[in-house]
Order: sequence, then structure tokens, then C-alpha cells
Amino acid sequence: MRGLKTKMALVTGAGSGIGKSIAIRLAEEGMVVGVLDINAEAAQKTVAAIREAGGQADSATCDVTNYEQVCAAVNELESKLGPTWALVNNAGWDKPIPFLKTEPEFWRKVVDINYMGPLHLTHAVAPGMVERNGGRIIFIASDAGRVGSSGEVVYSGCKGATIAFAKALAREVARKNVLLNCVCPGPTNTPAMDSFVGTDEAGQKIRDAMVRGVPLGRIGEAEDYPGLVAFLASEDASFITGQTISVSGGLTMHG
Ligand code: NAP
Repeated sequence: MRGLKTKMALVTGAGSGIGKSIAIRLAEEGMVVGVLDINAEAAQKTVAAIREAGGQADSATCDVTNYEQVCAAVNELESKLGPTWALVNNAGWDKPIPFLKTEPEFWRKVVDINYMGPLHLTHAVAPGMVERNGGRIIFIASDAGRVGSSGEVVYSGCKGATIAFAKALAREVARKNVLLNCVCPGPTNTPAMDSFVGTDEAGQKIRDAMVRGVPLGRIGEAEDYPGLVAFLASEDASFITGQTISVSGGLTMHG
């Protein structure tokens, strides 16, 4: 893809699942990749996979819910790898519980990771992009944020808020060539999905039910998303901002 080589991309939650696939693909496209994750060992494994394939990457450990840690990690990676061209806000978390059975402590955890996390990263990285007159911020939101998902009520709210946040900031920084877009996965086979529905017979039944709802006849794989993320970070996407794109096999179809 055009205009990616040697530019730096920061990917949060890149130690696992969708974030790991995105980090590896962006490195294959010639980007220098900053791998951010709360799990240092997982982040280092992603870096090792990129380096083994001939790519350039480094990692920093941070909890996206902690603004000070986020700023320190961004500084650390930018001093090693150069200024951030693309930020991929991917780290996320949820646990399926009906809303009426949840408590404020759980809401706060979900909001901190899924909404405050992307805000922290964006606030740490966007000023540099504005100063350099260019950059891309890509949010891995969710179809849950577009149509809602039962058992994931607060998470759905966070993803919907993320989509609105991205649109509003896209307007504020458009004249500085900083473009923001959201990618919305549907249900996807990742370690998060394994802990979400389980890997036993009951979990398989839930997966089968999910598949029945998808016109293309399967749930997502982590490798379904990096192509679109690379495109949104590339020169070819330089007239696209404030958009929300579902990658979910036709599960949701928006006009
Ligand atoms: P995943 O396999 O659990 O990977 C998420 C990564 O983020 C993990 O390495 C995790 O570390 C890390 N992380 C979690 N909390 C963090 C924090 N506070 N600070 C820094 N890193 C943190 O998840 P995934 O399924 O790939 O999900 C990636 C994104 O896609 C999320 O935003 C999710 O909401 C979205 N999404 C996923 C699905 C799906 O069905 N899988 C569907 C729609 C949208 P630990 O493993 O150590 O916690």
C-alpha cells in the first residue's frame, strides 16, 4: 500500500488477537511498529515475530487506563522509533454479563479500558500529528457500538462513544491533515472470544449461533482486519475521515 514504508505505527493491545495481526501486517507493509500492551511478554513475542520476518518493531508496556503510563510509553517508543504516523487504538476488554446484574465497579473497568484508553492514547499522540501536519488514528471499535449487543451493554456504549468521539475529533483536526476512522469487527475468533464464550461444548453452541447470523457464513478471524487498517493508514485513504466501517461478513449492513 502507498505511503506506509518507514513510517511509525503504534498499535495498542498488540500482544494478542486482532492487534497482533494488525502489528504484523503493518510491519509487512514496511512500517516501523510500536507494540503497546499491558502484557510485556506477549508484546515482546509480537516484536520477535516481526523481527524474525525482517521487520522493525519495539515494545513498551502500559495499561491504557493510566494516562501517565500511556504518555511515558508513547515517549519511549517515539524516542526509539520516530514520530507516530498512525495510532491504532485496538486494546479492549469485556465480560458478558446482563446489565441488570452488573455493578458500578464493573462499568468503570469497562469504560476505563474501552473508552478512556483510546482517549488517553489519542491525547498523547495527536498533538504531535497536528504539529507535523499529518497523521492517522484508527479505532478498532465494534459492531456492538453500532447496533448494540446483549450481554455487552456498557461495552456497546463505550464503542458507540468511541465512534462519536472519532467523528467529532475528525472535524476538529481535519485542517491539520489528521484523519480518524473506525473499524468495526463483528464476533471474531481471538483469545478474547475464547474467554468470552468458553472453548467447551456450550461455547461451541454460542459460536454456531453467531455463525448463523452472518451472511458470509463464518465469524471473523484476526487476519480479516489488518488490510483495512493498512489502507486507512495509507496515502490511498487521504480523503477519508470520520468514517465507520464494519468488517463483519455482512452481519450489519449500514447505508
Ligand atoms: P484480545 O485477544 O484480548 O487482545 C487484546 C489485547 O489488549 C491483549 O493483549 C490484552 O492484554 C490487551 N489489553 C487489555 N487490557 C489492556 C489495557 N488496560 N492496557 C493495555 N493493553 C490491554 O482481544 P481482541 O479480540 O483481539 O480485541 C481487540 C479489539 O477488537 C478490542 O478493542 C475489542 O473490543 C475489539 N473487538 C473484538 C471482537 C471479538 O469478537 N474478538 C469483536 C468486536 C470488536 P491481556 O490479554 O493481558 O489482557
